[in-house]
Amino acid sequence: MDLDSLGKGIGLFGSAIAAIKQLISLMPDNSKKEEAIEYLKRAEREFKIAESESATDLGYEICRQHFPPIIMLSKDDKHWECPECHNTKSPEDYSSLLGLF
Ligand SMILES: [Zn+2]
Repeated sequence: MDLDSLGKGIGLFGSAIAAIKQLISLMPDNSKKEEAIEYLKRAEREFKIAESESATDLGYEICRQHFPPIIMLSKDDKHWECPECHNTKSPEDYSSLLGLF
């Protein structure tokens, strides 16, 4: 599987989860609904883990301040920022780490 279709697959799975969420919201409030919400939460968590794994395959950085990790965004592919906690990663961070050895 190439990286482009991997990205599309992730997008489709994300839409499927959104559709299921919509369906659950239409269910009457009972124990079946609670059960469905639990399954959905588990699926969403697994999806986020799979998503961050494929994001690193696509060359993205991930923020490890959260679990499942959040995908960091960059304007120049060098300086990365977490959209949630604004944690940053940059090439300078790596060079200072390398300086330790
Ligand atoms: Zn973060």
